[in-house]
Formats: sequence, structure tokens, C-alpha cells
Amino acid sequence: MAADDVVTMEKIVSLCKRRGFVFPSSEIYGGIGSSYDYGHYGVLLKANVKSEWWRALLRERDDVVALDSAIIQHPRTWEASGHLAGFTDPLIDCRTCKLRFRADKLEDAQCGRKPSKHPGESADCDLTDARNFNLMFQTTVGPVQEEGSTVYLRPETAQGIFLSFKHYLQVSRKRPPFGIAQVGKSFRNEITPGNFVFRMREFEQMEMEFFVPPSEAGTWFEFWTAERMRWYVELGIRPDHLRLRPHDQDELSHYSSATSDVEYLFPSAGGGARWQELEGIANRGDFDLTQHAAFSGQKLEYVDTASGERYVPHVIEPAAGADRAALAFLIDAYDEDEIEGETRTVLRLHPRLAPIKAAVLPLVRKDGQPELAREVHRSLRDRFQVEYDEGGAIGRRYRRQDEIGTPFAVTIDHQSLEDRTATLRDRDSLAQDRLPIAALPEELERRLRAPWRSPKLSR
Ligand code: ATP
Repeated sequence: MAADDVVTMEKIVSLCKRRGFVFPSSEIYGGIGSSYDYGHYGVLLKANVKSEWWRALLRERDDVVALDSAIIQHPRTWEASGHLAGFTDPLIDCRTCKLRFRADKLEDAQCGRKPSKHPGESADCDLTDARNFNLMFQTTVGPVQEEGSTVYLRPETAQGIFLSFKHYLQVSRKRPPFGIAQVGKSFRNEITPGNFVFRMREFEQMEMEFFVPPSEAGTWFEFWTAERMRWYVELGIRPDHLRLRPHDQDELSHYSSATSDVEYLFPSAGGGARWQELEGIANRGDFDLTQHAAFSGQKLEYVDTASGERYVPHVIEPAAGADRAALAFLIDAYDEDEIEGETRTVLRLHPRLAPIKAAVLPLVRKDGQPELAREVHRSLRDRFQVEYDEGGAIGRRYRRQDEIGTPFAVTIDHQSLEDRTATLRDRDSLAQDRLPIAALPEELERRLRAPWRSPKLSR
């Protein structure tokens, strides 16, 4: 296993800030703990991650439908789901340094007095017993704070799906096995957020609830586990940086009969790397539908109109984080090589995930080259996310595009004005092919669709 070829988190954070992928939120006020803003390229990257997730579920299949439910739901939702009573983390305080830690994640934390040691390992540490802390953010609806006005920001997108199950049975003409998928923000008042966007208090999830006849739950659990692993590998994550970890019996949530985590070898702040959750796939049985049926008084079951058979479907849930996935893709893509004696930083992102698909660059800012380059840019922009850049030496412009992971660069030079050709540079092989400008859209389309394999895998 290749822990030594994992890039450091410091390099990722620095690249993200330098190139405007992700940066600390509210910086002019000194920042606010573990809140981050996505800049231009970060927005495009995360949008591509989400769009690939949608593609795998909606476009490549016909048994999944989409949902975008409200963030603020009826407060009874969280009673029924068990979140109000049980969505807690064990919190401990250090009486010496006054910091707080999650008792089950002590290895992530560092005591304030002894930054090089973990709490519990340090003789100075004076830890309290663990007490439970609910992670849901509370707020109130309406202008007056009164009884009954307390609501919660959803801590997961999944419950919105269960609340809409009945509606979908009536309108979507789907019958089990079928899935409802949702992407959106979730909120958790994490005790120890950190390691960049790995753990935040406000983050995006990509979740699906796949409703199946009870007897098929085991088979579908295996299916979705394999399918989700395949998704990450197909989009470029190195297989030796990815593993599947089935939960032990004593680790399972009260509602789950089986859960497996997709884990990625994430770099830790301060060095080293550790297997950490990227996504969880759970067999939730009929827990959620049964609970919501009991709390709402509604029947949440499937009735086969032909046979009269009725049952509460069981649910297989692949639950992924869009921020964690985007972070893993960035980390895995990060590379450095040598060109003409200089170190080049390059993001070897899968072309489908790359924020910009092609840069259009005039070699020099004169002799009609910018005008022709702008014309080429215009001819490509309705098909691809492309960027025009004319400022600075060509080598520096290539390096900039390499750093944001742009797979192709189209360069307009003096020959282009004579014969209407351009060079097409490949980020990974550095090959430059000359071809007619008129052939560019088709050639780019072909290259963007071609199966892609990270050159890092051949080393
Ligand atoms: P963890 O054990 O890391 O706290 P979890 O098991 O509580 O995660 P789930 O409830 O299974 O996480 O949520 C599904 C996915 O949502 C996670 O695999 C992760 O990718 C993402 N996620 C959960 N909490 C956060 C967070 N605080 N910040 C960013 N992403 C998160």
C-alpha cells in the first residue's frame, strides 16, 4: 500500500488557495472555524463531481429518480428518525488546555498544551468523562420564538427522501426496486471539524435510498457496494488508495444490518496518511419507513395492484460526501514532474472532472493572433467549458492550466493565420498535434469521451 506517495495536505491546501479552488470563509473578519468557500475552479470541479454522480444514477439507469427536498423539515422528522435522541457524539473536555474533543476520534485531535501529542497520551492532559452532544443545529421558524417553533437544519439529506416516498409511489410510476437520489447541503455541529474540507459543519451530500423487496436487500447491498467502488475508480482514483471496510457487528448503527465504508487514504494534517471514510453504504432495512409511518400515521408501504401483495420495502443507502469526494479526486490527481529542469505541478484529473476542458492561447499578443484565438474560443464555448488566456509567457500559461488540471490547450501561432491550423497540447503526454481549426470541436469531443487512465498508474 502506497502511503509514501500520498501528497501532503499542506500542498493541497496551498494549491487550492493559490488557484482559487477553495479558501477559508469570511477571511476579512479573520475566518470562522472550518467554514470554506469554493472559488471559481472549485465550483466547477464540485459541479462535475455531482454531475458524474447524477449521470451514474439518472442517465445510465432508469430505476432512479431525483429529488431536491427542503433543508428545514417538520421537526417530527427528527423524532421519528432517532436524530433528536441519538444523533450525538461523545464529547470530552481537557481541563488543562480547555479544548474539546470527540472521544471516539481522539487520534484526530491535538491537545492545546502539547501540540505534538494526542490527548490521553500526554501526561498534562486532564480529560473529563465523555458526555453526549447533539450535532443538530437548532433554529426557530417565524418571527416570535415560542413553543413549537423550534426546527433543525437537516443533518443528512436522507430523511427528506423517506418523507417523499409516498409521493413518489403515487406520481413516479416506479415500483421496487427503485431509488430516489438527492444532492444537497447538510449541517452538523461537529465537535472537532478539520483537515480542510474533510470535516466541516456545513457540507454537501450525495445520497440515494434504493427501495427493494425485503428478500432482495442482501443482493442489492452487494450490488451498490461494488457499483460505488467502481465509480471512484472509473473517475481516476488509484485502486490502491481506495478500500472497502465492512463494519464490525458492534459498530453498526441501530437501524443497519450491514454497512460498508468506502475508505480513501487521506493525508493527515501534519504528515502521514490514514484510511478514512469517503462514503458509507448501508442496508437500513425497513427502519425509516416504519418509523415515519408510526409517527405520521400514514401507510408507507408498497402494494402490488396485480397480486395484492403489500410490504414495507427495505432500503439500501449509498451516502457520499460531495466535498470529501472532490477533495479525494484533487489529492489523487496531484502530481509533480520535471519539464526543462523545472518542477511542474499538475493535476491529473479525469477530463470529465476537470474544471476547464481546454484553454485557448495565442502564442503572442499581436499580429492578429488574439483575434483568431478569440474566434476559436467562441467556436468551442457552447460545447465545452473553455478559457481564453493571453497574458504572460506561453510556458507560464501552460503551467497555470496544468495546475488547475486542464487536459488540453489550443495554441494559435503565426502559422495559424496562414493555414488556419492550431496546435493541441495534451496535459499528460505533453504531445502537441497540429490540426485544422475546423476539426477542433470534434477532436476535443473525441478525446474527452475516450477512456482515460491516469499516467500515475503506469509508474
Ligand atoms: P464521519 O464518521 O466521518 O463523521 P459519518 O459516518 O457520520 O462520517 P454519514 O452520516 O455516513 O457520515 O454521511 C455520509 C457522508 O457524508 C460521509 O461519508 C462523508 O463523505 C460526508 N460527511 C459526513 N459528515 C461530514 C462533514 N462534517 N464534512 C464533510 N463531509 C461529511
